[in-house]
Amino acid sequence: LTYFLSMIFYKTDEEIELIRESCLLVCKTHAEIASMLAPGVTGAAIDKRAEELIKDHKAVPGFKGYRGFPATLCVSLNDVVVHGIPTEKQVFREGDIVSIDCGVYMNGYFGDAAYTFAIGDVKEDVMQLLRVTHESLYKGIAQAVAGNRLGDISFAIQYFAEKKYSYGVVRELVGHGVGRELHESPEVPNYGQRGRGIKLKEGLVIAIEPMINMGTKDVHTDRDGWTVHAKDGKPSAHYEHTVAVRKGKADILSDHSIIEAAIRRNANLKAIQEKKTEQAIA
Ligand code: MG
Ligand code: MG
Repeated sequence: LTYFLSMIFYKTDEEIELIRESCLLVCKTHAEIASMLAPGVTGAAIDKRAEELIKDHKAVPGFKGYRGFPATLCVSLNDVVVHGIPTEKQVFREGDIVSIDCGVYMNGYFGDAAYTFAIGDVKEDVMQLLRVTHESLYKGIAQAVAGNRLGDISFAIQYFAEKKYSYGVVRELVGHGVGRELHESPEVPNYGQRGRGIKLKEGLVIAIEPMINMGTKDVHTDRDGWTVHAKDGKPSAHYEHTVAVRKGKADILSDHSIIEAAIRRNANLKAIQEKKTEQAIA
C-alpha cells in the first residue's frame, strides 16, 4: 500500500457513476456479511460468501491477488488494525469487534469500503471507539469539498479522534485515490495540518478511511507480511467510504446505510448508533 502513482486522475461524471456502482456492490457484500455474522462463524465462511456474491454480479474481488493478498476480504479481529487474512481458525466470539474491508472491480473501476462490526455484547469502551472512529470518518468527509485542501480532511479526523478522545491515529496506513486502480494518488492520511496539501477539485475520488486505536498509535506487522496489529494489543477500528469531491458537499459513493439496516436485522450484532437512536426515541 505504499506504492502510489504520483499523477492524480480526475474523474468525469460518467466515471464517478461507474465507481458508485462498484462501491454499491461492495456495500451489498458488507450487508450480506452483516446478515451472517454471529459467534461461531469463521473468517473463511464470510470470505467465501463475499467472493460468490461479487462473482454473481459479474465483478471481480478487488483485493484477491493484489500484491499477493490471498482473499476477497480483509478480516481484522479486535487488536488487528487492517489486512487480517480470513481463515477457518478465525472464529468470531461474543464481545469481538471485526473490521471488514472489501474492494471490487467492475466495468473498469474499483470501489472500496470498510466497516467495523460489534458481535454480541461488546464492552462500552470499545463501542465508544467504534462510534468515534465512525464519526471521525464523517468529520473528514465534511471537509472533502472543492476549494479545501487535503490537509483539512486529515486534520479533521486527527483532531476529533486524538485531541478530543486521546485515541491513537495510525500513521503507517492511509486513504487513497480510487479509480481504474485500487490505490491511486493522492495519499489521504488521517493526520495532518489544516490548509496544507493539494487543493481539492471536483472529480477527485478518494477513499477516506480512519484507522483508530484505543491505545497507542503504533502498529506492528505479523510475519505473514499482512496482518497489522496495534502494538499494545488494544482494540482498533476502521471505517471507510469512497467519496467524490464536489462543490459545497462531498458525494459519498459507498453506502453504509444498507450495511446498518442489515446490522439492525441481526440480533447477534450491536449497532454503533444504538445510543443515539434510543435518545432520539426518548
Ligand atoms: Mg478498503
Ligand atoms: Mg481503501
